[in-house]
Amino acid sequence: ALYITDECINCDVCEPECPNGAISQGEEYYRIDPNLCTECVGHFNTSQCVEVCPVDCILPDPDHRETKDQLQRKYLALSGQA
Ligand code: SF4
Ligand code: SF4
Repeated sequence: ALYITDECINCDVCEPECPNGAISQGEEYYRIDPNLCTECVGHFNTSQCVEVCPVDCILPDPDHRETKDQLQRKYLALSGQA
């Protein structure tokens, strides 16, 4: 999964781009639910939130490192195919 750092300027550009609805407004800045973020695996070749973020504050979550296979399985589970 990816996570959003405190550099986030709350611009709301990323939230509608997430195919998994993993992004929401947090108390101080936007956040990503690691259970829902597939790093866009299953939907797109690149992380859509990273593509649009104007301040590059979305990074790999060191607490939720996953392989491509794990992300693919998460995608299948979230989409009801597993
Ligand atoms: Fe959503 Fe993709 Fe960003 Fe994860 S990487 S939060 S799935 S847009
Ligand atoms: Fe924050 Fe970047 Fe999302 Fe804007 S696009 S809300 S700066 S994480």
